[in-house]
Amino acid sequence: MDSVRRPSLKLEGLTPYDPKYLPAEAMMSANENPRDVSDELRRKIESAVRQVHFNRYPDPLANDLRDLIAEANGLDREHVLIGNGGDELLFDTALAWGGPGRTFLNLPPTFSVYAVNALLTDTDVLEIPRLADQDFAIDEEAVLKAVSGPDSPVDFTIIASPNNPTGLRARTEFLHELLHATDALVVVDEAYFEFSRMTMRPYLDQHENLVILRTFSKAFSLAGVRVGYILAHPSVIQEYLKVRQPYSVDAVSQAIARVIFQNRAEFEPGIEAIIDERERLRAELAKIPGVSPYPSHSNWVLFRIPRAGEVWQQLYDAGILVRDFSATPGLEGTLRVTVGTPEQNDAFLEVLKRGAA
Ligand SMILES: *Cc1c(COP(=O)(O)O)cnc(C)c1O
Repeated sequence: MDSVRRPSLKLEGLTPYDPKYLPAEAMMSANENPRDVSDELRRKIESAVRQVHFNRYPDPLANDLRDLIAEANGLDREHVLIGNGGDELLFDTALAWGGPGRTFLNLPPTFSVYAVNALLTDTDVLEIPRLADQDFAIDEEAVLKAVSGPDSPVDFTIIASPNNPTGLRARTEFLHELLHATDALVVVDEAYFEFSRMTMRPYLDQHENLVILRTFSKAFSLAGVRVGYILAHPSVIQEYLKVRQPYSVDAVSQAIARVIFQNRAEFEPGIEAIIDERERLRAELAKIPGVSPYPSHSNWVLFRIPRAGEVWQQLYDAGILVRDFSATPGLEGTLRVTVGTPEQNDAFLEVLKRGAA
């Protein structure tokens, strides 16, 4: 054949995920940790990796890592599932709780992966937009109304807290109320909880429908290695086990993540520094004429700026890559800057101040 039959209809109009990653001196676009793992940790990782048998399949469930995470959270391994990054577990969520005739409640603007996964699994999407005039806070009343009662169509929802790319975390009282109001699966995406200092972990025992998603990619400097996990009731984990790819978490990643997790206290000063720099960035941005930063509980600041697309280019020409959301519905006129090192943050502010002068 010199041609190929058309693929699934649902791919029509879909474009492959593009993180808009371009080489730049200061990578401030993907919410990564600006500091790589220390040399000392690297040496520990090297000796752990040396012991990995490359000819053998990995432990499919990464039980050693699972046990470390379970113990730190006061849980059993049956409450934990490791994934190839949080992204894989988000897809597994759509496979297990979505599908034809099923409904996903989305709260845009939010992480775009959620909606794409719904589309790929033929899941219906119900949208309740965040409140643009309240720093993109959740429309709590509308959400509670949509999920309440036996006639609610909602089978699952995913709530990023803090919400990427806008910045606010969800209110604990609201999440608690939501978990009470519905038997839909409620995934609280805590990819950035280390920066917001808020977790739903204390509520796991009370709610069989609560899933907490976490990742090693952000606070723990491991975006390149691909490890994430969920905490949930064993009955829920059991369903995820049915849809997951059996060997998705390779043995090398398991070994690296174990070392990082056992030494996670080492990351604490870096996390503190990022939180301090975030507040400094926001305060400095607010001083620049025409610039309005949104509040953030995470490791980035979303801000509104006139001619955002042009400013993105000026920054890029100066060696600084930020994320351009100016063409995203609901986020027109905004850019998102990931908190970098103090030097990177200064360089970023310098370009904006020059542009405004
Ligand atoms: C980064 C991120 C994740 C997970 O990323 P992985 O690198 O796949 O672990 C999940 N949710 C949100 C909102 C994120 O920003």
